[in-house]
Amino acid sequence: MAQNNESEILRKLKSLCKRRGIIFPGSEIYQGFANQWDLGPLGTEMARNIRTMWWDRFVQDREAIVGLDSAIIVNPKVWQASGHVENFNDPLVDCKDCRERFRGDYLLAEELGGNFDGLPLEHISKLIAENNVCCPNCGGQLSQARKFNCMFKTHVGPVEGAGSEAYLRPETAQGIFYNFALVQQSMRLRIPFGIAQVGKAFRNEITTGNFVFRPREFEQMEIEYFCRPGTDREHFERWQEEAWEYYISLGLSAEKLRWRQHGKEELSHYSNRTVDLEYLFPWGKWGELEGIASRTDYDLKQHAALSGQKLEYEDPQTRERYVPYVVEPSFGLNRALLAILCDAYREEEVRGEKRVVLGLKTEVAACKVAVFPLSKKDKLVAVSKPLFDDIRKRWPAIPDTIGSIGKRYRRHDEIGTPYCITVDFETLDDNAATVRNRDSMQQDRVSLDRMVGYLEDKLDR
Ligand SMILES: [Zn+2]
Repeated sequence: MAQNNESEILRKLKSLCKRRGIIFPGSEIYQGFANQWDLGPLGTEMARNIRTMWWDRFVQDREAIVGLDSAIIVNPKVWQASGHVENFNDPLVDCKDCRERFRGDYLLAEELGGNFDGLPLEHISKLIAENNVCCPNCGGQLSQARKFNCMFKTHVGPVEGAGSEAYLRPETAQGIFYNFALVQQSMRLRIPFGIAQVGKAFRNEITTGNFVFRPREFEQMEIEYFCRPGTDREHFERWQEEAWEYYISLGLSAEKLRWRQHGKEELSHYSNRTVDLEYLFPWGKWGELEGIASRTDYDLKQHAALSGQKLEYEDPQTRERYVPYVVEPSFGLNRALLAILCDAYREEEVRGEKRVVLGLKTEVAACKVAVFPLSKKDKLVAVSKPLFDDIRKRWPAIPDTIGSIGKRYRRHDEIGTPYCITVDFETLDDNAATVRNRDSMQQDRVSLDRMVGYLEDKLDR
């Protein structure tokens, strides 16, 4: 019952996101494509806020983390060295009747409960047989699990075939690893330090679904934090605290967040310790928002071996040379946006009428202030235009002249605009306007010359 209720919220949220310009189904006029989504004008603003809050907190506000923007298509040797060509596989099973394809570990999780990520293929096949797991689509018999590499292949240059094959990056991390020495030397960085990168990554997922939770194209915000071997544990724990604080700053409820440690079987080939920060999504399941992995010196050593280049650090005081250890906090932007939307969505009854509100943090909201002239009469437009221009110089704002004031409030409640200003006929006499707070719906009469200062107090705390 609760489950039903909760998918209902997701359905409403999807419809709101489309109606209000937050998230659109990708390739909509062609009936969509492979679980891809496009950010609308307001979703683009929200994503920019999430990204900026991340960059300010983790790069801008500290000394020892620098940014990088590496290419999406790189020398395919990068993916050989990283182990992705060999190991980046999901267990694929087919239905022998309807030919539908599934991810074996997810099917088991659905049927038996628990987590089966990273389980060897033969164990997955065995568990499917032992537990009589059938095709969820038609009830048909399932094949043995086999390897399916999740990297997107492409060709570079005009000739297809061996030698021209390349991949779209499945993670932003490797661009950081192969640039390690260039970044460290050009910026004269001393360990411990971090390199941060925000950008698109691509995974040819077998199973997608749940709105923007697992699209095949997504945006990562990653840091590789290089430290002295032996200090990785302490940095790992500090990154856990920092990641938690970041998600709280986005407005997520602490009671819907938890840490989950990866079991031995589930650990990636490069990691000796991984934890996921999970969020309780409205479809009733915990889902990963962020992972912190201790990647040891695996990646730098792999790239050094395949490239023949030294990827080491020399301590300027002791002259000791070593390959640094790496702690990697890896954040997903799409999932952060989805969790924020789920957390912020609420329905309320006000004087017998239903209102839908996105209770977004002001830092995350796409539009901070809306300005409504009560009517389209020239006199009111003449007063509200300079007010709007003043506000727009400071914060993302939207002028709104269409429909009744009630309808305009409803529209802005749905996109989470924290403050709406109404310019009415009294404004012509008292040179003031009414500011309405989204959450309390309390209204203040504020003089126009004090308006920017009033909003500064509320928005730029
Ligand atoms: Zn089937």
